[in-house]
Order: sequence, then C-alpha cells, then structure tokens
Amino acid sequence: MELVIVGGGIAGLTCAVAAERALPEARITLLEQTVAITPVGAGIVLWPNALAVLDRWGIPREELAAAGTRMTRAGVCTSRGRWLRRVDAGRREQRIGQSVALHRARLVDVLLRRLTRTETHLGAKVDRVDLDGSVHWSSPEGEGALRADVVAAADGLRSTVRRQHWGVAPRPAGVICLRAVVDVPTEEFVEAWGRGEIVGQVPIGGGRTYVYAARRAPWDGAGIEWARSWPALTLGVVEAVGAAATERIVAELASLPAVKPWTRGRVALLGDAAHAMLPFLGQGACQGIEDAEALVDTIAAGAGLHGYEARRRGRAMMVHRASRHASQLAMAHGVRARARDALVPLIPDRAFLAQLARVAAPRA
Ligand SMILES: Cc1cc2nc3c(=O)[nH]c(=O)nc-3n(C[C@H](O)[C@H](O)[C@H](O)COP(=O)(O)OP(=O)(O)OC[C@H]3O[C@@H](n4cnc5c(N)ncnc54)[C@H](O)[C@@H]3O)c2cc1C
Repeated sequence: MELVIVGGGIAGLTCAVAAERALPEARITLLEQTVAITPVGAGIVLWPNALAVLDRWGIPREELAAAGTRMTRAGVCTSRGRWLRRVDAGRREQRIGQSVALHRARLVDVLLRRLTRTETHLGAKVDRVDLDGSVHWSSPEGEGALRADVVAAADGLRSTVRRQHWGVAPRPAGVICLRAVVDVPTEEFVEAWGRGEIVGQVPIGGGRTYVYAARRAPWDGAGIEWARSWPALTLGVVEAVGAAATERIVAELASLPAVKPWTRGRVALLGDAAHAMLPFLGQGACQGIEDAEALVDTIAAGAGLHGYEARRRGRAMMVHRASRHASQLAMAHGVRARARDALVPLIPDRAFLAQLARVAAPRA
C-alpha cells in the first residue's frame, strides 16, 4: 500500500502520524514544497475534539499542554471591557474537556518527532496529481514521480490538487487579519469585540502571548494602535504587537465554498484543502486533525475513500457554517453590534456550553 501525502501542514503531518500507526504495511511519502517544515501562523488553540484524536494516535494532551499551556480562564468582552461571556474553566472542562494553546512551531515539532518511517521530501512542490494516483513534483534537484494507492491532498487553502481537479477557489472575506507572538505574559484568553474589529490575546506558555486581530479593510495590519484603549487587553500587549512582536503575519481572511465531493479516483482532500473556514471558532486545524484520523481509519478498514467523506463531511460543514456565523457576530458593527452586545450576555451558560460542545467536544 502506497500513501502519498501532499503538504506538511497540521493536517498532512497528523495524517502521517496516524498512518504510521494504523497502516504498518504502508509505504508513506510526504511531499512538502518548502525546504523546512516551519508553520505559518504564530499560536494555535487545540480544542478537546482535536486533543482526543491526537491522544488516540499516541500524543497525550499532557505533552501538548507542557509544550504550551492549558487554557483555563477565557472570556469575550466588548472593546470597552464589559464582559459579554466569561465561562468558568471548571465548568467548561467538565462539559467539553481540556483545551491547549501553544506556539504552532511547538505543535509541528511534537508531530514531526513522532514520524519514524515517513519518507519526507522537503522542497518538493507537487505540480500535478492524476486521479489514478500518479503524483508529479519538482524540486531544486530535479523532478520526481510516484504512483500511490491513495493521495492525501493536504496542501492547504490554495491547494494545487484541488485547483487541478475541482477548480474551486478561496473566497476572500474582506477582513485583514494580523497574528503575532509577543513576549508579554498574560493570564487569560480574552477576545475583545469592537465595531467590525476584534483583538484576541492567548497565553501560550513560557511568558509569551499569541495575539490576533481582525479588521475590515482598509487596514495595513502593521499594528493594533486602534485597540490601545481597550481595557481588557493586558498592559503592554498592544505596544508589543507594534514594536516587538517576534513574528507577525498579515493576510486577508478567506474561506472555501463547498467542495464536492472530497474524493475523486485515488485522491482525497483533507484539512484546509477540503474545507478552509473562517478562523473565528479556532477550529480549522482541529477539523484537519479529525479528517486525518477519518481518512486513515477508512484506508485501514480497506473501505472505499467515499467512506471517509461520509464520516466527515456533515460535521466539517457544520463547523464551517458555525465559523461563518461566529465571524458575523464577532465582526458586527452598527446596530448589529449593539444588539449583539445586549443579547450575548443573556444567553444562559448552559446553552452557550451546549453550542460549544457541538463544535469542540471530543467525538467518539
Ligand atoms: C488567524 C487564524 C487563526 C487560526 N487559529 C486557529 C486555531 O486556534 N485553532 C485551529 O484549529 N485552527 C486555527 N486556524 C486555522 C488553521 O490555521 C488552518 O485550518 C490549518 O493550519 C490548516 O492546516 P492544513 O494542514 O490543512 O493546511 P496548511 O497549514 O496550509 O498546510 C498546507 C501545506 O501544504 C504545503 N503545500 C501547498 N501546496 C503544495 C504543493 N503544491 N506541493 C507540496 N506542498 C504544498 C504548504 O507549504 C503547507 O506546508 C486559524 C487560521 C487563521 C487564519
């Protein structure tokens, strides 16, 4: 059995980790276009649904928590500092389980260290995949080709494989997003909602904080001075983003319209390549992790690839929709923002946690 994984992002790496354990006879090849697997994107939150999957594939949540930090206190407030929702960590964990926030590089490191028999080609850009499983790539050393029984296309939002066989392009959201890591310690995951703009601060361990901000264009993303007077943000965070962020990524947010089906011939899309979503629930990578497990389970069961899609599509698209609704809420302005700020505190904790559980609780 020959499995070729295109893309060494979180979905592709998780797929390799799972395949090494579940497919002992398989030859696994991972092709990554960059010359080093270095994640783009500062910090990340892994919700219980993703932690449960990684745990099943031999990566305990304690190890990930040690690489970052367990998410304890968390809340959403207005830009004026009025709490809209602040759920007690104990209650949240009791309902959905533990979440972890960490630097992406630490997560990638944990995944890479699990790989012992995946043949990884760095600097190998996949140019073409045929539905019969032929994969063609080029690298500075020349060109290569492989014939796979299954091609797991985890090549992200701007997937070459998807463009080639599905022709579906990402849809820009008209929202600029900044992500940065700052050497300012924070205690609490806070997301502050303004009028068509948000800022989040997430402790990721080691005295560092992952900061993200989204604002409707035009905004060059250079800094978040516009949030200087937002009281819920930890002192020094806004300044550090402008002056001393160790990393800074600015991009326009985009998501994918529905891609149908996710599999064609011997090729299966997973992760952002299949269902890139807006990041307002922090679930994109978590869903890619769920995909990786489902795909590998399907291959191990010797079932057709459509079994993978049957298991995953409904849930991933539900989270995709929920992410879009969350973006409308977070990025509201004018009368909608005023209505939001009045109504969100009225939602009972029980209802809020039930909604969170639908998206982020572990699946059996
Ligand atoms: C602001 C923001 C915040 C987010 N926060 C969270 C969060 O807290 N939690 C969460 O779960 N998700 C979050 N996400 C979503 C998450 O970042 C993505 O869903 C996830 O990184 C996608 O992983 P992937 O492996 O599918 O794709 P990618 O990470 O895009 O990886 C694709 C890989 O394929 C490689 N590649 C591409 N084309 C080729 C080719 N032709 N040949 C070879 N290699 C190729 C790329 O170099 C890359 O390494 C966030 C997203 C954004 C924008």
